[in-house]
Formats: sequence, structure tokens, C-alpha cells
Amino acid sequence: MIAEIVAVGTEILLGDIVNTNACFLSRRLAAVGVDVYHHVVVGDNPGRMAAAFRQALGRSDLVVVSGGLGPTEDDLSKEVMAEVLGLPLDFDAAVMAGIEDFFRKRRRPLTPNARKQALVPRGATVLPNPVGTAPGLFLEAGGKMVFLLPGPPGELGAVWEQHAEPLLRRLGVGGQVILSRTLKVCAMGESQVAHLVGDLFASSNPTVAPYAKPGEVHLRVTAKASGPEQARELMAPLEAEIRRRLGWRVFAVDDGTMAHAVGERLVAAGLTLAVAESCTGGMLGALITTVPGSSRYFLGGIVAYANQVKVSHLDVPGELIRERGAVSEEVAGAMAAGVRNRLGADVSLAISGVAGPGGGSPAKPVGTVCFALARPEGLFTWSEFLRGDREEVRGRACQVALTTLYRYLVTGNPEGE
Ligand code: ATP
Repeated sequence: MIAEIVAVGTEILLGDIVNTNACFLSRRLAAVGVDVYHHVVVGDNPGRMAAAFRQALGRSDLVVVSGGLGPTEDDLSKEVMAEVLGLPLDFDAAVMAGIEDFFRKRRRPLTPNARKQALVPRGATVLPNPVGTAPGLFLEAGGKMVFLLPGPPGELGAVWEQHAEPLLRRLGVGGQVILSRTLKVCAMGESQVAHLVGDLFASSNPTVAPYAKPGEVHLRVTAKASGPEQARELMAPLEAEIRRRLGWRVFAVDDGTMAHAVGERLVAAGLTLAVAESCTGGMLGALITTVPGSSRYFLGGIVAYANQVKVSHLDVPGELIRERGAVSEEVAGAMAAGVRNRLGADVSLAISGVAGPGGGSPAKPVGTVCFALARPEGLFTWSEFLRGDREEVRGRACQVALTTLYRYLVTGNPEGE
């Protein structure tokens, strides 16, 4: 079974929106064992839409169309697909009743063009939309299967999950299931990861592929099998081998983040954390608190952007700032010690850097960031030169700080192996 996703929308072609519906549908089709061979994007132009639909029907068994089901004149997916398949459009009273109900519940007047959404190609199965007015539609014609789904991602997702996917399963569509797991690796570059596990990249089922991300490397393990359980069984030995070789550097799986990994370690060790931030202005604290339940270990942070606040709220000696500069390992160390002491935390992190675009000097160019980790064993300070624009430097700085804390929590040493 070969599928093709056709996203309709001039907005996508103009670059105003990202085609997230295609990502969602590809993943969900893979999960039911359907191979997606093509993603197509076409604007709201009936001639080009018809050509795209014909091409898709010519080379794919299942065509999933996203968008263009709304009530306005430029929403034409249903009309064009019906014409391409030679099907008339019939008024569906049940669909109309659903639309009327939708408007009534929201106390909104029913607009005359809403009636357009109650037109259904003859023989189509209506897939009710639990969160919007335009229902999804399923058609079978000439040995091909077609889904027409609403464009708003929340509506497309709901119609897919509640109706389209169950329908495909009932029809016995799909063969082998494709499952993936992403292992996230820290404190190691892509080439070093490849050096240690590169021989596994030759495996064909499951496969392993590396993806370099800022400050992390992701290893995506993918298996194809008759069912999800079998796919997981195929992946397990390979994942175990990767973990055996890379050890603690595999810090998270799939949606897991470094903030989660640090949180788990802090809870396990019964330690509390505080942060002192200058150039990141609260981003580190925000990142730590993305984890539900972070109040178990995160006491809080002090954003000390101005020098006088570093002195008044973190007890950094004014003289140290004058002598070494606010962006120095000495000041970062004093900030970490200050916040640890003031908040009564077991461990603390501090960040002070030149995020840019201004403020750099030959000695401390934009991207220079100084860090400190205060822990019962004493202070550990270090500095890094981080590339990128202001937001990238700030984001990377938070990631570096958390990764060093994670490394300390796992190995007992911020530079441990
Ligand atoms: P509506 O009733 O809202 O008009 P529709 O089915 O006609 O729904 P479109 O008009 O094509 O869908 O798109 C509506 C909105 O849904 C877009 O403005 C956009 O925000 C979002 N959207 C559409 N297509 C995609 C896509 N492929 N990926 C992500 N978002 C999309």
C-alpha cells in the first residue's frame, strides 16, 4: 500500500505556514504500516489541484488531501476531487444538521456559505469533525482510496484519530508497522558518536540513523514488523547495544529533554537546585520548570542582569566585577555561590555571558559565556565560546549549563567520563 499526502494551501507555498499536517499524517500512516512515497503541496488553484490529484491517484493507492474543505470560495478540495473522480455532489442533510448544531452551541449565526460544507461526493463516507464544521470524507473509486481532511491541524488530527485511522484498520489496510525511537546523546559530537556506534548504521531492520542537533546528537532507531510489539522486540537489542557503548551520554528518549534528565537525577539523589542568571535572563529557570513536578527539586532563581543586582542579591563583591568583568569565571563562581547560599540549595548553576549582538570585545567576543556549578564539594567554573545569534547563544548557554550539571550528577564530576 503506497500513500501520498497532498496538502492544499497557497499559505504553505508562500512560506507563511509550515506543512505540519504532512508530518503528522506521515507518522500516523507509518504507524499503521502504510508507506508514504510522496508529499505534494499545491496552492488553492483548481487547475493545479486537479493535476496534483490526478498525478497522486495515478501513482499511489491511498491519497490523503489536507485542507481546502472550508466554506469559502477558495476552499475547493472536495469540488475538484469530485470532478476528477467523476462524482456528483449531493446535499447531505445529516451533515447540515451537525453544522447547524455547531453554530447554535457557539451562539454564532449560521452563514449562507456554511451550506457548501454539507455537500458530499456521492458514495463518500462522512467522517464527523468533533472540533469544527467541515467533516472529513472517505472515498473509494477506481481501486484507489481517498481521504479529504480539514486543514486546521487540531481538526485534521481529531478526524484522523477518531475516524480515519480506525476506518483504515477496519479495512485491513497496511502491512508492516514502522516504529521509531529517538535516543538523545549529549556531551559528544556527531563524529565521535559515529566512531563509537557507526558500525550499527549498516543494520537494515532495525535501522539506526544519526541526526546532529545543536549540542546533542539524536540516534533514530526504526524497525518494521508485523505489529508494534514485534517492532519493539526488534529494536530492543540494538538500543541496548547503543546504551552499552555510549553509557550515560544517552540522556533521553523521544520527547525527553535534558531538563527531564537533570530532574530525574536530582530527585534520585535528593538534591535541590537554584540558579543565578545574567545573559539568559530567566531562560534557564524557565527550561527547568518545563518539567511537571520540578518543584520537588528546583527552589528558584535570581535573574541578576545589572551589576548592582549581582552585588545586592547574590553577594558578588563589587571589586571582583570591576577587576574581572561581569563576564568572567570568577563572577560566575561568585553568582553560583551566592544563589546557593541565599536560597539554601544543595547545588546551583550560574551563567554570565556576552549574548550579543553588541557588547563584545577582543578579549571577550560575542558568544563568550562563563558558567559555574556550586556543589557541596566546591565550585566548578568554566567558559565556552558559543556560536549563533543572541537567541541561539542564550539557548545554547542553558543547554551547556544543564548538560554539565547532568554530567556531574551521573558521574560525580562535571568533567567525568
Ligand atoms: P477552514 O474551514 O478553516 O477554511 P480548510 O479545511 O479549508 O479549513 P484551509 O483553509 O486550507 O483548511 O486551512 C485552514 C488553516 O489550517 C490554515 O490557515 C492553517 O493555519 C492550517 N493549515 C492548513 N493546512 C495546513 C498544513 N498542511 N499544515 C499545517 N497547518 C495547516
